[in-house]
Amino acid sequence: MPSLERYSRQIVLWRRGEEDQIRLLKSSVAIIGCGALGSCIAELLTRAGVGRIKLIDRDVVDLTNLQRQVLFDEYDAEKLLPKAIAAANKLRAVNSEVEILPIVEDVNPSNVLELIKDVDLVIDATDNLETRFLINDACHKLGKPWIHGAVLRTYGMVMNIIPGETPCLRCLIPNPPPPGSLPTCETAGIMNTIVMIVSSIQATEALKFLMGYDIVKNELIYIDAWNLRLSRLKVRRREKCPLCSEGRYEYLEGRRAYAQALCGRNAVQILPSREIKLNLEELAQRLSRIGKASYNGYILSFDDGRYRLILFPDGRAIIKGTSDVKVAKSVYTRYVGG
Ligand SMILES: [Zn+2]
Repeated sequence: MPSLERYSRQIVLWRRGEEDQIRLLKSSVAIIGCGALGSCIAELLTRAGVGRIKLIDRDVVDLTNLQRQVLFDEYDAEKLLPKAIAAANKLRAVNSEVEILPIVEDVNPSNVLELIKDVDLVIDATDNLETRFLINDACHKLGKPWIHGAVLRTYGMVMNIIPGETPCLRCLIPNPPPPGSLPTCETAGIMNTIVMIVSSIQATEALKFLMGYDIVKNELIYIDAWNLRLSRLKVRRREKCPLCSEGRYEYLEGRRAYAQALCGRNAVQILPSREIKLNLEELAQRLSRIGKASYNGYILSFDDGRYRLILFPDGRAIIKGTSDVKVAKSVYTRYVGG
């Protein structure tokens, strides 16, 4: 066990002192989404000494992220680094004793159980309801606690969910509205201060849970940063909850979407129909004859003057410049293949 000196300012605070800190050092979390909430939470948990942190994110750093995603800088955006990789680079410099596991993947029904099965706690730092309902299903299936968090404009919310004990996300929202019908950070805006508040609450609950202290249960914590209001709203288990009463894993059993518009982002994600392994370096050379192509060791970026293609080694792609799935598919087929 390494020296606990670096944690001395918090050890004096924990009720069981070093024993609690050792518990933290032996604990593990998966943070799903490494954007605004994810990067703040990851930094707090890394500094506090959570032993193993999985960072899962499907996207690359973009200039518009820097206003609120505190782990990233202009270099990361310029180099189009995957967020999980850029975050891991920073976090390892902060605390080399923590095991940081960056995973550049889309979380979907085919991989979610594998991704979270070996951690003590899952933290929701995603930006869409679809993935949250998938986490809700997966955590219920594995009996894994998770912390829901969301931010928009100047408000946000947090809810701790312990399968079998507290209400689940579908007790709160039984039938999510169709994708695209909700406001997003891109369409409605986001103030960077609410991100810090919500991520701090999520991280506080996470640390308490990992050390074995009581956490907030059966309540939705709602914060309005602009008007400085915090409310704690009672949430009850829904008698006809599709998940915790009826046991239907509608999201986990759903098919992963082959092509999916990323809401409010003017971008579409394409997943390959089968398992493939691309040689991005070679492809970048080929594509550079017809447009601006580059490979940074992680992803290929290609700009044909109209659309921008971000391609990952497993064949997954994000097509920027359109929200039309058909257009995105044809761009993908044209440059990557069918
Ligand atoms: Zn439920």
